[in-house]
Amino acid sequence: MSGAHVLLVEDDAVARSAVAQNLAAHGYAVAEADDAAAALRSWDAARPDIIVLDLGLPDLDGQTVIRRVRREAATPILVLSARGREADKIEALEAGADDYVTKPYGIGEVRARIAALLRRAGGPAGEPMGVLRNGSIALDPARRVVTVGGAEVALTPREYELLKQMLGAPGRVLTRGRLLRAVWGTAYSDEGHYLHVYVSRLRRKLAAADPAGDARDLVEAEPGVGYRVREAAGE
Ligand code: CA
Repeated sequence: MSGAHVLLVEDDAVARSAVAQNLAAHGYAVAEADDAAAALRSWDAARPDIIVLDLGLPDLDGQTVIRRVRREAATPILVLSARGREADKIEALEAGADDYVTKPYGIGEVRARIAALLRRAGGPAGEPMGVLRNGSIALDPARRVVTVGGAEVALTPREYELLKQMLGAPGRVLTRGRLLRAVWGTAYSDEGHYLHVYVSRLRRKLAAADPAGDARDLVEAEPGVGYRVREAAGE
């Protein structure tokens, strides 16, 4: 990922400079912006490979930057969000941000998230009907068949849709709202308890099909937000 162009948007000059210097020392080309207007000017002038975006900016909300970028490109966006601002984080993910780090963050964590997003952005895209794999799990959308360790697993239609969403988002956070809309077709509402029940059931079925394997660890809960899917293993 050396040489990747990072647009770093953060109004706290001390934090921004620390992150910028660290990224530069690891071979990234860093452009800095201290508010949303500067971020959008930089975005227009030179499309970066990834955007690292503080949500609390002095002029426009960081969400405005996300929506504007998403209208024009699929450039990965990593959000920096303040602790306790769960609603902002969820709004950002639903507006199209790809991942987040909660402040105060470690620079190593920021770098790892950037590297993961760039790896995925550079990976094969535009194959929505291909077989989705993660570890021992494989889902064939053409045949609607799920196998774990090569053995077919019977899933209900909703469990199947849930798993499909998860396998399609390796290394990413899926918000409860996104999963509810995708699987139940409902608006973002307080039906989150269904999700917990279905995720638990799906986990049990996957684990039962592969007791010694990694199927149970496909997702971990991200408290207050949703679920993080592990990076696709075994490919
Ligand atoms: Ca800020």
